[in-house]
Amino acid sequence: QPRTLIAGNWKMYKTEGQAVELAAGLVAGLADALPPERELLILPPFTALKTVSEKLRGRERMFVGAQNFYPSEEGAYTGEIAPSMLADAGCTHALAGHSERRHVIKESDRFIAQKVAFGLQAGLHMILCIGETLDQRTHGSMENVVKGQLRLGLAQVNKETVTPEQLTIAYEPVWAIGTGETAEPEDILSAHAVVRKTLEEHFPHCGNGIRILYGGSVKADNAAAILGLDNVNGVLVGGASLQVESFTAIATAD
Ligand code: 13P
Repeated sequence: QPRTLIAGNWKMYKTEGQAVELAAGLVAGLADALPPERELLILPPFTALKTVSEKLRGRERMFVGAQNFYPSEEGAYTGEIAPSMLADAGCTHALAGHSERRHVIKESDRFIAQKVAFGLQAGLHMILCIGETLDQRTHGSMENVVKGQLRLGLAQVNKETVTPEQLTIAYEPVWAIGTGETAEPEDILSAHAVVRKTLEEHFPHCGNGIRILYGGSVKADNAAAILGLDNVNGVLVGGASLQVESFTAIATAD
């Protein structure tokens, strides 16, 4: 059984000082309280990566990750950050395909696939985010969208060598992100079952061990129920990860 991953995506919130204060509060609250079968991952903005990882250094089962990077070793890519720079700042994990990058920044499935494969090669644990919009769900295409984003996003991953220790999927229905609208348990169950089946088809040797996180308005009061669902191996939390109290409550929810 893989460890449950409790991930906090801080998005474009927190100055360096605020981020370090939040990280310190989480370390203080969770150092002795994080259940042994759980891992904590914090995804701060770039400017706080280094100081936040220093705060977490040496803490067992507590990791720092990046929200984004550019899939190249280095080069003339103004404004971008390379995986080696993230590793240098203390990152072990990174996201790709978050809905805000798909829909606001207009990243394509092809570009996302490049990031997943390049990040893995660079030694980062990659979290591929997928999820349908409200319009897509209303038209009955959740299953097709989820399958399509998975197949395209994983297209360049080496099927022979990838392991569940390197790759995680996050199902985040776009209509539940930042809206306070959590998916119903049956919505989560059916979507995660589609993700699991697709993973097993795509990666016959390890698809059943790859973790699937749920994201979208996860809060202290619904975390325990969500974490108890079949095929839910963790949560990816936005708004409620920005405060010590709520994120600590989610990380310890039972
Ligand atoms: P909220 O928890 O604020 O809905 O955000 C979810 C999310 O996008 C995490 O990546």
